[in-house]
Amino acid sequence: MHEWSVAEAVIRTVVNWANENHVTQVKKVKVGIPSFSFLDVEILKEAFDTMKSDSPLGKAELEVVFKDPTFKCRNCGLTFSLKDVRDQLESLKGEFGEEYPLHLMPALAPSFLKCPKCGSHDIVAETQDITIDGIEVEESGTAQTVG
Ligand SMILES: [Zn+2]
Repeated sequence: MHEWSVAEAVIRTVVNWANENHVTQVKKVKVGIPSFSFLDVEILKEAFDTMKSDSPLGKAELEVVFKDPTFKCRNCGLTFSLKDVRDQLESLKGEFGEEYPLHLMPALAPSFLKCPKCGSHDIVAETQDITIDGIEVEESGTAQTVG
């Protein structure tokens, strides 16, 4: 039940932020999740809704945004995302169908992809964490970003 510990961590972070900034009511929390993390969004939202009561997040809605993994070339130092190697991915999709292996296992990238700048296969997947990308509060109605 990884989703529950993620929801708990998100709630704890936002509650701390709300207390520090004297925010009494959070409207929306936007989290970024790596697309390959296998988290079940429905379970995550259910966990969030269950644990958010009795906090400034009591009426908050959880918004989930999936982030694609990024890669770094160890030969030339270029950092690139899956968008930058779209043409390479298109041929992979042709071979493997929609469930192409990189979507599930970015660590496989060096076997399938080459650097779009120098053509090297010496690339590594950058690890990505779950991030809180924005918090919307009741008073001002504006979104704020926290680290
Ligand atoms: Zn390169």
